[in-house]
Amino acid sequence: MQLRYPTELTFAEYVKAEAWQHARLETCPLCPPGQCRLARHGTYRRTVPAPARVARFYCPTTHTTIGLLPDFFASRLPGTLPALEEAVAQAEQAPSVEAAANALRPAEADDAVTLPTALRWVRRRLAIMRATLTTVRGLFPTLLARCQLTVRSFRDALDTASVLVALRGICARYLHTLPAPLGLRPPPAMVRRGGRPPQQRMGRAPPATPA
Ligand SMILES: [Zn+2]
Repeated sequence: MQLRYPTELTFAEYVKAEAWQHARLETCPLCPPGQCRLARHGTYRRTVPAPARVARFYCPTTHTTIGLLPDFFASRLPGTLPALEEAVAQAEQAPSVEAAANALRPAEADDAVTLPTALRWVRRRLAIMRATLTTVRGLFPTLLARCQLTVRSFRDALDTASVLVALRGICARYLHTLPAPLGLRPPPAMVRRGGRPPQQRMGRAPPATPA
C-alpha cells in the first residue's frame, strides 16, 4: 500500500536532498498502536523523470509493504504530478490535440516518438485529468462548484500553480478510495473489501523533513 509523504519539496529538491532517507513512519497504519513491529524496508526505485528512491516500510503482522510516496509523484504512472498537470495545461491552451502532441512529444516515451504515440500520450493525460477533476469536484461541491473541468479553472479556484500536488493534501482522507495517479494504493484488506476503508485508525504520515 502507499501512504503520503507530505512534502513541499520539488522533485529536484527531493533527489538532491535524498529525502527518502528522512521519510519516517512512526506507527503502523494497519495495526492497533504498539501491536506491530513496523520496520524500514529499504527503498524502491522510480526512473522518471530521473532516478529517485521511495522509502518503504514493512508491517510483519499483516505482511504489508508500505511505500511513502512524496506528494509530487504520480501514483501508478511514471513521472510527477506537476509534469502531468503541465502537459494537460498546455494541451488545454493548444489549438488542437495534434498541436499539443507535436509540441509536447513526451521525452519519457521511446526515443523516436511518433505522432500517433504522442497523440495517445496526450489524450490519455487529458482523460486522466478530466476524470480526476470530475471526482474531486464531486467530493467538494461547495468549494469547487463553479469550477470548469480544466487545470486552469482549478488553479484559479485553489489559488495554486500545482493543483494535483495541492489535492494530495486537500483529498488526504480520500486518497485510498481515489483512482491513480492522484489516489494511493490502498491497504490490501481494503482491496479485498472492494474499496471500503479499514476499521482501524489510519496512521498519519509524518511531516516532511526540510531539505
Ligand atoms: Zn502493522
